[in-house]
Amino acid sequence: MTRPTQLTIDKKALQHNLQRVRDFAPQSHVVAMVKANAYGHGIAETVSAFADTDAFGVCCIEEADVIRQHSRSARVVLMEGVFTTAELSHASKASYDIIVHHQQQIDMLEKSNLVKPLRVWLKVNSGMHRLGIAPESFAESLARLKACANVQPDIILMTHFADADEPEKPTTNQQIQVFNTLSAEHTFAKSLANSAAILSRPDTHVDWVRPGIMLYGISPFANKIGRDFDLMPVMHFHSELIAIQSCKKGDAIAYGGRWVCPEDMLIGVVAVGYGDGYPRHAKDGTPVLVKGKPTQLVGRVSMDLLTVDLRNIAEPKIGDTVTLWGNDLPIEQVAIGADTIAYELTCTLTPRVPRIVIG
Ligand SMILES: *Cc1c(COP(=O)(O)O)cnc(C)c1O
Repeated sequence: MTRPTQLTIDKKALQHNLQRVRDFAPQSHVVAMVKANAYGHGIAETVSAFADTDAFGVCCIEEADVIRQHSRSARVVLMEGVFTTAELSHASKASYDIIVHHQQQIDMLEKSNLVKPLRVWLKVNSGMHRLGIAPESFAESLARLKACANVQPDIILMTHFADADEPEKPTTNQQIQVFNTLSAEHTFAKSLANSAAILSRPDTHVDWVRPGIMLYGISPFANKIGRDFDLMPVMHFHSELIAIQSCKKGDAIAYGGRWVCPEDMLIGVVAVGYGDGYPRHAKDGTPVLVKGKPTQLVGRVSMDLLTVDLRNIAEPKIGDTVTLWGNDLPIEQVAIGADTIAYELTCTLTPRVPRIVIG
Protein backbone atom coordinates (compact mmCIF):
# COMPACT_ATOMS: atom_id res chain seq x y z
CA MET A 1 0.00 0.00 0.00
CA THR A 2 1.15 3.49 -0.77
CA ARG A 3 0.70 6.08 1.94
CA PRO A 4 -2.16 8.22 0.68
CA THR A 5 -0.82 11.65 1.68
CA GLN A 6 -0.24 13.94 -1.28
CA LEU A 7 -0.07 17.48 -2.61
CA THR A 8 -1.64 18.55 -5.85
CA ILE A 9 -0.25 21.69 -7.50
CA ASP A 10 -2.57 23.28 -10.06
CA LYS A 11 -0.66 25.13 -12.79
CA LYS A 12 -3.87 26.53 -14.31
CA ALA A 13 -4.58 28.20 -10.99
CA LEU A 14 -1.10 29.75 -11.01
CA GLN A 15 -1.75 31.16 -14.47
CA HIS A 16 -5.18 32.42 -13.46
CA ASN A 17 -3.71 34.19 -10.43
CA LEU A 18 -0.98 35.86 -12.49
CA GLN A 19 -3.73 37.12 -14.78
CA ARG A 20 -5.51 38.52 -11.68
CA VAL A 21 -2.34 40.47 -10.85
CA ARG A 22 -2.46 41.90 -14.39
CA ASP A 23 -6.16 42.78 -13.90
CA PHE A 24 -5.42 44.64 -10.66
CA ALA A 25 -2.28 46.38 -11.95
CA PRO A 26 -2.68 46.62 -15.72
CA GLN A 27 -0.03 49.31 -16.18
CA SER A 28 2.70 47.61 -14.16
CA HIS A 29 5.42 45.11 -14.89
CA VAL A 30 5.35 42.04 -12.66
CA VAL A 31 8.10 40.43 -10.57
CA ALA A 32 6.58 37.06 -9.67
CA MET A 33 7.96 36.20 -6.24
CA VAL A 34 9.07 32.56 -6.25
CA LYS A 35 11.45 32.58 -3.29
CA ALA A 36 11.46 29.66 -0.82
CA ASN A 37 10.70 27.11 -3.55
CA ALA A 38 7.80 29.25 -4.78
CA TYR A 39 6.35 29.51 -1.27
CA GLY A 40 6.63 25.72 -1.04
CA HIS A 41 4.72 25.08 -4.28
CA GLY A 42 7.78 23.94 -6.27
CA ILE A 43 9.94 26.44 -8.13
CA ALA A 44 10.25 24.46 -11.39
CA GLU A 45 6.49 23.94 -11.83
CA THR A 46 5.78 27.52 -10.87
CA VAL A 47 8.36 29.04 -13.20
CA SER A 48 7.03 27.04 -16.14
CA ALA A 49 3.47 28.21 -15.37
CA PHE A 50 4.61 31.85 -15.29
CA ALA A 51 6.27 31.94 -18.70
CA ASP A 52 4.86 35.41 -19.39
CA THR A 53 5.85 37.20 -16.19
CA ASP A 54 8.30 40.10 -16.60
CA ALA A 55 10.70 38.85 -13.93
CA PHE A 56 11.08 36.42 -11.05
CA GLY A 57 12.04 37.37 -7.49
CA VAL A 58 14.16 34.99 -5.42
CA CYS A 59 15.95 35.14 -2.11
CA CYS A 60 19.38 33.92 -3.12
CA ILE A 61 21.63 32.88 -5.95
CA GLU A 62 20.96 29.16 -5.49
CA GLU A 63 17.27 29.79 -6.19
CA ALA A 64 18.16 31.98 -9.18
CA ASP A 65 20.28 29.17 -10.63
CA VAL A 66 17.29 26.80 -10.50
CA ILE A 67 15.35 29.28 -12.64
CA ARG A 68 18.30 29.62 -15.05
CA GLN A 69 18.22 25.87 -15.63
CA HIS A 70 14.66 26.24 -16.87
CA SER A 71 14.96 29.53 -18.69
CA ARG A 72 18.11 31.05 -20.11
CA SER A 73 16.46 34.41 -20.74
CA ALA A 74 14.19 34.93 -17.71
CA ARG A 75 14.87 38.09 -15.76
CA VAL A 76 15.66 37.14 -12.16
CA VAL A 77 15.99 39.51 -9.22
CA LEU A 78 18.03 38.58 -6.12
CA MET A 79 15.95 40.14 -3.34
CA GLU A 80 18.79 40.18 -0.79
CA GLY A 81 21.40 41.08 -3.38
CA VAL A 82 24.77 39.37 -3.21
CA PHE A 83 26.76 38.35 -0.16
CA THR A 84 30.27 38.08 -1.62
CA THR A 85 32.30 39.37 -4.58
CA ALA A 86 32.24 35.81 -5.97
CA GLU A 87 28.45 35.98 -6.02
CA LEU A 88 28.65 39.38 -7.68
CA SER A 89 30.62 38.00 -10.64
CA HIS A 90 28.31 34.98 -10.77
CA ALA A 91 25.30 37.34 -10.90
CA SER A 92 26.94 39.34 -13.66
CA LYS A 93 27.71 36.26 -15.75
CA ALA A 94 24.19 34.87 -15.28
CA SER A 95 22.61 38.33 -15.86
CA TYR A 96 20.74 38.45 -12.57
CA ASP A 97 19.33 41.73 -11.29
CA ILE A 98 20.50 42.51 -7.78
CA ILE A 99 18.92 44.47 -5.00
CA VAL A 100 21.28 46.80 -3.21
CA HIS A 101 20.13 47.46 0.33
CA HIS A 102 23.39 48.21 2.13
CA GLN A 103 26.48 50.39 1.65
CA GLN A 104 28.80 47.38 1.67
CA GLN A 105 27.09 46.08 -1.45
CA ILE A 106 27.89 49.37 -3.17
CA ASP A 107 31.52 49.08 -2.01
CA MET A 108 31.63 45.61 -3.60
CA LEU A 109 30.20 46.92 -6.87
CA GLU A 110 32.75 49.73 -6.96
CA LYS A 111 35.70 47.43 -6.32
CA SER A 112 34.78 44.67 -8.76
CA ASN A 113 35.66 44.30 -12.38
CA LEU A 114 32.65 42.57 -13.91
CA VAL A 115 32.23 41.03 -17.35
CA LYS A 116 28.88 42.79 -17.75
CA PRO A 117 27.30 45.61 -15.74
CA LEU A 118 24.35 44.52 -13.59
CA ARG A 119 20.84 45.82 -13.29
CA VAL A 120 20.43 47.20 -9.80
CA TRP A 121 17.35 47.84 -7.67
CA LEU A 122 18.14 50.32 -4.91
CA LYS A 123 16.10 49.50 -1.83
CA VAL A 124 15.20 52.25 0.61
CA ASN A 125 14.14 51.67 4.19
CA SER A 126 10.97 53.77 4.27
CA GLY A 127 9.88 52.57 7.71
CA MET A 128 9.95 48.79 7.96
CA HIS A 129 13.49 48.87 9.39
CA ARG A 130 14.50 45.52 7.98
CA LEU A 131 16.41 45.86 4.68
CA GLY A 132 17.12 49.13 2.91
CA ILE A 133 19.36 52.15 2.73
CA ALA A 134 18.48 54.82 5.30
CA PRO A 135 16.65 57.82 3.79
CA GLU A 136 19.56 60.08 4.83
CA SER A 137 21.99 58.02 2.74
CA PHE A 138 19.72 57.60 -0.28
CA ALA A 139 21.04 60.49 -2.40
CA GLU A 140 24.66 59.53 -1.87
CA SER A 141 23.99 55.83 -2.55
CA LEU A 142 22.15 56.61 -5.75
CA ALA A 143 24.91 58.95 -6.91
CA ARG A 144 27.52 56.23 -6.32
CA LEU A 145 25.48 53.65 -8.25
CA LYS A 146 24.98 56.10 -11.16
CA ALA A 147 28.72 56.66 -11.32
CA CYS A 148 29.63 52.97 -11.08
CA ALA A 149 30.72 51.26 -14.32
CA ASN A 150 29.46 47.90 -13.04
CA VAL A 151 25.87 49.21 -12.79
CA GLN A 152 23.53 49.56 -15.77
CA PRO A 153 21.98 53.01 -16.11
CA ASP A 154 18.35 51.84 -15.69
CA ILE A 155 18.38 51.65 -11.89
CA ILE A 156 15.05 50.81 -10.20
CA LEU A 157 14.07 52.43 -6.92
CA MET A 158 12.15 50.29 -4.47
CA THR A 159 10.85 49.92 -0.96
CA HIS A 160 8.83 47.31 0.97
CA PHE A 161 5.78 47.75 3.20
CA ALA A 162 5.57 46.51 6.79
CA ASP A 163 1.78 46.71 7.24
CA ALA A 164 0.13 46.64 3.82
CA ASP A 165 -2.01 43.70 5.02
CA GLU A 166 -3.49 45.96 7.72
CA PRO A 167 -4.84 48.90 5.72
CA GLU A 168 -6.34 50.56 8.80
CA LYS A 169 -2.86 51.32 10.16
CA PRO A 170 -1.19 54.61 9.15
CA THR A 171 2.19 52.96 8.37
CA THR A 172 1.69 52.40 4.64
CA ASN A 173 0.81 56.06 4.00
CA GLN A 174 3.86 57.14 5.99
CA GLN A 175 6.12 54.79 4.04
CA ILE A 176 4.71 55.99 0.70
CA GLN A 177 5.42 59.55 1.73
CA VAL A 178 9.02 58.82 2.70
CA PHE A 179 9.59 56.96 -0.56
CA ASN A 180 7.91 59.58 -2.75
CA THR A 181 9.85 62.40 -1.16
CA LEU A 182 13.13 60.64 -1.93
CA SER A 183 12.25 59.41 -5.40
CA ALA A 184 10.12 62.28 -6.76
CA GLU A 185 12.88 64.13 -8.60
CA HIS A 186 14.16 60.96 -10.32
CA THR A 187 12.82 59.44 -13.52
CA PHE A 188 13.97 55.93 -12.58
CA ALA A 189 11.38 53.13 -12.53
CA LYS A 190 9.85 52.49 -9.10
CA SER A 191 8.49 49.51 -7.19
CA LEU A 192 6.55 49.33 -3.92
CA ALA A 193 3.64 46.89 -3.94
CA ASN A 194 3.47 43.36 -2.52
CA SER A 195 0.21 41.37 -2.82
CA ALA A 196 -1.61 43.31 -0.11
CA ALA A 197 -0.82 46.62 -1.79
CA ILE A 198 -1.68 45.25 -5.25
CA LEU A 199 -5.14 44.35 -3.89
CA SER A 200 -5.77 47.45 -1.80
CA ARG A 201 -3.57 50.35 -2.91
CA PRO A 202 -3.67 51.13 -6.65
CA ASP A 203 -1.68 54.29 -5.93
CA THR A 204 1.36 52.09 -5.17
CA HIS A 205 1.34 50.00 -8.35
CA VAL A 206 3.57 52.30 -10.44
CA ASP A 207 6.19 50.63 -12.70
CA TRP A 208 6.77 47.24 -11.04
CA VAL A 209 4.59 45.20 -8.67
CA ARG A 210 5.96 42.28 -6.66
CA PRO A 211 3.18 39.75 -5.98
CA GLY A 212 3.92 36.68 -3.89
CA ILE A 213 1.14 35.10 -1.86
CA MET A 214 -1.70 36.10 -4.22
CA LEU A 215 -0.05 34.15 -7.05
CA TYR A 216 -0.64 31.04 -4.97
CA GLY A 217 -4.33 31.91 -4.57
CA ILE A 218 -4.01 33.00 -0.96
CA SER A 219 -5.23 36.22 0.65
CA PRO A 220 -2.61 38.38 2.37
CA PHE A 221 -5.37 39.78 4.62
CA ALA A 222 -6.16 37.78 7.77
CA ASN A 223 -9.94 38.24 7.52
CA LYS A 224 -10.27 37.31 3.83
CA ILE A 225 -9.67 34.29 1.60
CA GLY A 226 -8.28 34.12 -1.93
CA ARG A 227 -11.73 33.56 -3.43
CA ASP A 228 -12.78 37.01 -2.18
CA PHE A 229 -10.42 38.40 -4.84
CA ASP A 230 -11.24 35.75 -7.45
CA LEU A 231 -7.93 33.99 -6.79
CA MET A 232 -7.76 30.19 -7.15
CA PRO A 233 -5.99 28.00 -4.62
CA VAL A 234 -2.94 26.35 -6.19
CA MET A 235 -2.08 23.80 -3.50
CA HIS A 236 -4.40 20.98 -2.45
CA PHE A 237 -3.31 18.84 0.47
CA HIS A 238 -5.04 15.49 0.96
CA SER A 239 -4.71 12.28 2.90
CA GLU A 240 -7.03 9.48 4.02
CA LEU A 241 -8.46 7.87 7.12
CA ILE A 242 -6.20 4.94 7.92
CA ALA A 243 -7.88 3.89 11.18
CA ILE A 244 -11.12 4.49 13.05
CA GLN A 245 -11.36 4.20 16.83
CA SER A 246 -14.59 3.62 18.74
CA CYS A 247 -14.00 5.73 21.83
CA LYS A 248 -15.92 6.05 25.05
CA LYS A 249 -16.91 9.22 26.83
CA GLY A 250 -13.84 10.35 28.79
CA ASP A 251 -11.25 8.75 26.49
CA ALA A 252 -8.24 11.04 25.96
CA ILE A 253 -6.98 11.31 22.41
CA ALA A 254 -3.33 11.15 21.18
CA TYR A 255 -0.15 12.45 22.90
CA GLY A 256 -0.79 14.25 26.12
CA GLY A 257 -4.49 13.49 25.97
CA ARG A 258 -5.22 17.10 25.09
CA TRP A 259 -8.73 16.35 23.89
CA VAL A 260 -11.17 14.20 25.85
CA CYS A 261 -14.23 12.62 24.21
CA PRO A 262 -17.38 14.30 25.57
CA GLU A 263 -19.48 11.25 24.62
CA ASP A 264 -19.11 7.80 23.04
CA MET A 265 -17.93 8.54 19.51
CA LEU A 266 -15.73 7.63 16.54
CA ILE A 267 -12.28 9.15 16.12
CA GLY A 268 -10.62 9.11 12.69
CA VAL A 269 -6.86 8.68 12.33
CA VAL A 270 -5.38 10.46 9.31
CA ALA A 271 -2.02 9.68 7.68
CA VAL A 272 -0.50 13.14 7.97
CA GLY A 273 1.47 14.91 10.68
CA TYR A 274 4.12 17.50 11.36
CA GLY A 275 6.67 15.27 9.62
CA ASP A 276 4.77 16.18 6.46
CA GLY A 277 4.44 19.84 7.38
CA TYR A 278 0.99 19.85 8.93
CA PRO A 279 1.44 22.29 11.84
CA ARG A 280 1.89 20.65 15.23
CA HIS A 281 0.60 23.78 16.92
CA ALA A 282 -2.84 23.39 15.25
CA LYS A 283 -5.46 23.66 17.96
CA ASP A 284 -8.47 21.44 18.65
CA GLY A 285 -11.19 22.67 16.33
CA THR A 286 -8.92 23.42 13.35
CA PRO A 287 -11.08 22.66 10.30
CA VAL A 288 -10.58 19.42 8.34
CA LEU A 289 -12.83 17.84 5.71
CA VAL A 290 -13.65 14.12 5.65
CA LYS A 291 -15.30 13.04 2.37
CA GLY A 292 -15.75 16.77 1.72
CA LYS A 293 -17.73 17.30 4.95
CA PRO A 294 -16.46 19.75 7.55
CA THR A 295 -15.21 18.43 10.86
CA GLN A 296 -12.39 19.26 13.25
CA LEU A 297 -8.95 18.26 14.42
CA VAL A 298 -9.03 16.84 17.95
CA GLY A 299 -5.92 16.07 19.97
CA ARG A 300 -2.30 16.95 19.37
CA VAL A 301 -0.83 16.45 15.90
CA SER A 302 1.84 13.69 15.85
CA MET A 303 4.77 13.35 13.46
CA ASP A 304 2.99 11.03 11.04
CA LEU A 305 -0.66 11.12 12.13
CA LEU A 306 -3.44 13.31 13.34
CA THR A 307 -6.88 12.61 14.80
CA VAL A 308 -10.28 13.98 13.79
CA ASP A 309 -13.80 14.06 15.17
CA LEU A 310 -16.08 11.76 13.12
CA ARG A 311 -19.35 12.52 14.94
CA ASN A 312 -20.94 14.33 12.02
CA ILE A 313 -19.52 12.15 9.23
CA ALA A 314 -21.99 9.61 7.87
CA GLU A 315 -20.65 6.03 7.69
CA PRO A 316 -16.96 6.84 7.81
CA LYS A 317 -14.59 4.12 6.63
CA ILE A 318 -10.90 3.52 6.14
CA GLY A 319 -9.78 5.05 2.85
CA ASP A 320 -12.13 8.05 3.04
CA THR A 321 -10.51 11.17 1.63
CA VAL A 322 -9.39 13.81 4.10
CA THR A 323 -8.73 17.38 2.92
CA LEU A 324 -6.18 19.28 4.98
CA TRP A 325 -6.50 22.39 2.78
CA GLY A 326 -7.27 23.32 -0.81
CA ASN A 327 -10.55 23.45 -2.70
CA ASP A 328 -13.48 23.73 -0.25
CA LEU A 329 -11.15 24.26 2.71
CA PRO A 330 -9.30 27.57 2.46
CA ILE A 331 -5.78 27.36 3.83
CA GLU A 332 -6.36 30.75 5.45
CA GLN A 333 -8.86 29.07 7.83
CA VAL A 334 -6.39 26.33 8.72
CA ALA A 335 -3.77 29.02 9.40
CA ILE A 336 -6.13 30.66 11.91
CA GLY A 337 -6.56 27.28 13.66
CA ALA A 338 -2.78 26.95 13.88
CA ASP A 339 -2.17 30.56 15.00
CA THR A 340 -0.04 31.26 11.96
CA ILE A 341 -0.28 32.57 8.39
CA ALA A 342 -0.82 30.55 5.23
CA TYR A 343 2.65 31.61 4.02
CA GLU A 344 4.21 29.50 6.75
CA LEU A 345 1.97 26.48 6.10
CA THR A 346 2.91 26.23 2.42
CA CYS A 347 6.61 26.95 3.03
CA THR A 348 7.12 24.32 5.70
CA LEU A 349 5.76 21.27 3.90
CA THR A 350 8.39 18.57 3.84
CA PRO A 351 9.87 16.61 0.94
CA ARG A 352 8.21 13.44 2.26
CA VAL A 353 4.90 14.50 0.71
CA PRO A 354 4.62 13.40 -2.93
CA ARG A 355 3.52 16.08 -5.38
CA ILE A 356 1.29 15.79 -8.38
CA VAL A 357 1.21 18.64 -10.88
CA ILE A 358 -2.02 19.16 -12.83
CA GLY A 359 -3.07 21.63 -15.55
C1 LIG B 1 8.33 38.24 -0.56
C2 LIG B 1 8.34 39.64 -1.04
C3 LIG B 1 7.24 40.19 -1.71
C4 LIG B 1 5.94 39.44 -1.88
O1 LIG B 1 5.15 39.56 -0.71
P1 LIG B 1 3.68 38.92 -0.65
O2 LIG B 1 3.12 39.40 0.63
O3 LIG B 1 3.87 37.44 -0.66
O4 LIG B 1 2.96 39.41 -1.86
C5 LIG B 1 7.37 41.45 -2.23
N1 LIG B 1 8.52 42.16 -2.07
C6 LIG B 1 9.58 41.68 -1.40
C7 LIG B 1 10.79 42.52 -1.25
C8 LIG B 1 9.52 40.42 -0.86
O5 LIG B 1 10.58 39.94 -0.19
